[in-house]
Amino acid sequence: MALKTGDQYLKSIDKLKLSAHVLGQKTGKLAGHGLLTPSRQAVAFTFDGAHDPATSDMFRAESHLCKDQVNRFTHLHQSADDLVKKVKMQRYCGAQTGCCFQRCVGLDAANAIYSTTFDCDLKHGSDFHQRFKDYWRWIQQEDLVVDGAMTDPKGDRGRRPIDQDDPDLYLRVKERRAGGVVISGAKLHQTGMLNSHEVLIMPTMSMRPGEEAWALCCAVPVDAPGVRHIYGRQASDTRKLERDLLDVGNTLFGGQEVMTVFEDVLVPDERIFLNGQVDFSGILVERFASYHRQSYGGCKVGVGDVLIGAAALIARMNGVEKASHIADKLVEMNHLNETLYCCGLACSSQGEATAAGNYQVNLLLANVCKLNVTRFPYEIARLATDIAGGLLGTLPSAADLNDPEAGVYIEKYLAANPDFPVRERMKVFRLIENLVAGAGAVGYLIESMHGAGPPAAQRIMIGRQAGLEQKIEAVRRLLNIA
Ligand code: SF4
Repeated sequence: MALKTGDQYLKSIDKLKLSAHVLGQKTGKLAGHGLLTPSRQAVAFTFDGAHDPATSDMFRAESHLCKDQVNRFTHLHQSADDLVKKVKMQRYCGAQTGCCFQRCVGLDAANAIYSTTFDCDLKHGSDFHQRFKDYWRWIQQEDLVVDGAMTDPKGDRGRRPIDQDDPDLYLRVKERRAGGVVISGAKLHQTGMLNSHEVLIMPTMSMRPGEEAWALCCAVPVDAPGVRHIYGRQASDTRKLERDLLDVGNTLFGGQEVMTVFEDVLVPDERIFLNGQVDFSGILVERFASYHRQSYGGCKVGVGDVLIGAAALIARMNGVEKASHIADKLVEMNHLNETLYCCGLACSSQGEATAAGNYQVNLLLANVCKLNVTRFPYEIARLATDIAGGLLGTLPSAADLNDPEAGVYIEKYLAANPDFPVRERMKVFRLIENLVAGAGAVGYLIESMHGAGPPAAQRIMIGRQAGLEQKIEAVRRLLNIA
């Protein structure tokens, strides 16, 4: 059943045998949980987009695997135009939800695995590519959400996986059996794990000979026996549980991060897509990271749109929107945000076909995109904080606004532009707070720094891809230096 609606997606997730540790309690009652619901709604948005007549073209693509229309969040890119459409869709989702909508990680993993398994089979005579095609056709036909799991805990960063005191600090094959493998370890920072049906496990870095047990790529149902989820806290997360939603900031949508432990999980052969081929572990990491660095040129720009809109609105509510320094700051915020979008579009439009036939982003430009993402959202957040003013950090609570005694004073002394009630002004402050210092800042700022790798990782890739010798050669020709 391709192209689920958001509602059908929510029902399908509720049918899983999922449980998680959430704030000290292990619970199987995740449907309707106050902390999780906004993040589920954000994922549901990616399904509804394929049914909204205004956006269905953006959210649908023709699959070469199942010869049918599929949700673009499961699509294997068949052209540079597909890559461009992906970024446009991500900006749209970010701008409508104001948060991480979580579904891109699996999409990026699938595209990286598709081309890597093809290349691996050519060299090693394995049959991973056909397996992956069969698996992914099923994902497309069922319109499932797939998490992508790359980041291992890594233990002592000064030691290789094989030298750790505990070998599980890098997820590994613990035992090989006829028909499959038993895996053990954990993955950190799992975006949207509890809103996914499946997870694609990938190696966390380039492995070396002797580290075959850690060169693993496979698919696991998120509710498989031996899989344990521990929900990650976000700043101000318990505000989502308060009765008056005014203090939440973003009441409809939110992100989700999880620590997931794999304790002796059995993975059958048909779900294994790399199994000890250390020479392809680094290639897979590099391709996945580049796709996800491209993604940030869409999703973070969309969230940036929300923050810029909120900053402009609070300026109007404060009565300062005509001040020239405010207008200039808003121009600067837009300039930074659109520069990120340019990067997302550039690395997409310069994408090229892989040997497998799907399209890969331009690696250099994708890394430039992400390196800018590690900086510009912070500057946009700084400017939003500047424009909003100090109330951003000192605003009384919704409970006090509702209190008959205190509320009178809050209404009196927080009045500003008479066109706007105090309660609405407070709502906008809370949304900005959410994005620069609250739960939304996990997605907009911390994830911008560390998601898809920290700045140092992009600098290494830029150094490798920048073609310094060609530039030196051009200068030598120009100056006739032998
Ligand atoms: Fe998608 Fe952005 Fe969230 Fe990654 S951080 S899953 S690209 S919305």
